[in-house]
Amino acid sequence: EAADVAPGGLGPGCVGRLRAEAAGALVRESAPGRAPRAAEAEGPEPGLALVVVAPRDGLQAWAPDPGGAADWIASGTPHLYAGVLEGTGVVGPLVLPGATACAGCMERERVDRDPAWPRMLVQWRSAHRRRTAAACDLGLSTAVAGLAAAHALSFLDGELPASTASRWEAALPALHWDSSPVRPHPDCPCAAAVPSEQAVPS
Ligand SMILES: [Zn+2]
Repeated sequence: EAADVAPGGLGPGCVGRLRAEAAGALVRESAPGRAPRAAEAEGPEPGLALVVVAPRDGLQAWAPDPGGAADWIASGTPHLYAGVLEGTGVVGPLVLPGATACAGCMERERVDRDPAWPRMLVQWRSAHRRRTAAACDLGLSTAVAGLAAAHALSFLDGELPASTASRWEAALPALHWDSSPVRPHPDCPCAAAVPSEQAVPS
């Protein structure tokens, strides 16, 4: 769609193409030289090293649905949330399943603070489903995309970037970048709240 066109991103020639296809072509064009050869297929496909969760609806990054992360939690797949919800950009948390807080921990923590949270979330989600294209500030979304990519690359290089167990947020119009810790919840089945030395199989 025309609203997907951005400097450094998809160009006007991409309008009308599938997003995944256009994004894949853009990545290939941005990497001159021959693509690295895929490893010889031997045995089962290796698990993903990292999933970047950048949903089209920023609400799913700001208040991620634990159901959507269930497979990553079960398989121990690290995942990083990033997105823009109206005037607020979010990078993080980077979730290390079983070690740092997950979407389920975040949701439980919010319900503890505000019992009306689930009802508000249902209303927001249904309002978002009806909306065709969300307004999104281009400068903010470009910053969020760049920061998310940098955090992802840092993690893949063996570091624990600042989004590990933490959420970075910047909101229009002042755009201060602030982080807040994301804590494991004792009732969450991801078991991140149980210190590993005390984890005893039942
Ligand atoms: Zn959890």
